Parts: sequence; C-alpha cells; structure tokens
Amino acid sequence: MKTKNTKAGWQVSRLCPHCGKAFKPASGKQRCCGSKCYQAAYKAANRDRIAKNYSAYQAAYRAANRDRIAKRHAVHRAANREKLAKRSAAYNAAHRDAIAKRRAAYYAANREKLAEVMLDFQGCHSSDRDTGGRRQ
Ligand SMILES: [Zn+2]
Repeated sequence: MKTKNTKAGWQVSRLCPHCGKAFKPASGKQRCCGSKCYQAAYKAANRDRIAKNYSAYQAAYRAANRDRIAKRHAVHRAANREKLAKRSAAYNAAHRDAIAKRRAAYYAANREKLAEVMLDFQGCHSSDRDTGGRRQ
C-alpha cells in the first residue's frame, strides 16, 4: 500500500490553497483539505461563468413558468395581504427621506415625459376637450 511509503511525498501534510490549513492528502491528487474548500475554490475560479449560467437559467425558468409564478404570487399576496401592507408601511416610514429624494430625482429627470402624461390624462378626463386646445 502506498500509504506506507513516506518517500512518495504525497503522504506528508499539505497546505490547502483555499483556507491555508495543513492537511494530510488521502491521494496524490488531492489539492484542498475538504469538499467545502474544493467547492469554494471552484466557485472563486469560475465566478463569472457560474453567474452567467445561473442568470440564464433563471431567465429561462421565469419565461417557462410565467403563469404559474404569477398565480403563486397572487395567492401569496392574497393570503398575506395584511402582513405585506404592514411591511410596506414600515419600509416607507423607515426610508421616507430616501424615497422622497429618489422620487424628486426621478421627476427632475423625466419632467417632460411626465408633463406629457399629465396632459394626456387631463385631456382624457376633462369634460370639454375642445376648449383645452392641447391636442391638435
Ligand atoms: Zn481548506
């Protein structure tokens, strides 16, 4: 058995390249101390590829299950209406300033587009459309 052979070198303790701990490799090929470190090292080395694959998978899943997901969300919202409203209110209260700032920035950035929308809205709902003269 190879484990008796101290000259082989692979039996001597090694440093795990991921966590830096010393470990005794069970075979000459073993690089990391354990499966957790193998997984972490693999993820670190292939981060971009994994992220790309994952978002492609997610998009495909959402597209393939759109109806089922929408139905499930509707059921969840209906079943948790009060809890969700409470959470939303708490979020709005805790982020009042940030929300106001974001909204002001949005209005400033989209002033013209929003003004058009408002005119359209008023045009649709005013009882005397001809007197407004906004729509040519
Ligand atoms: Zn390790």
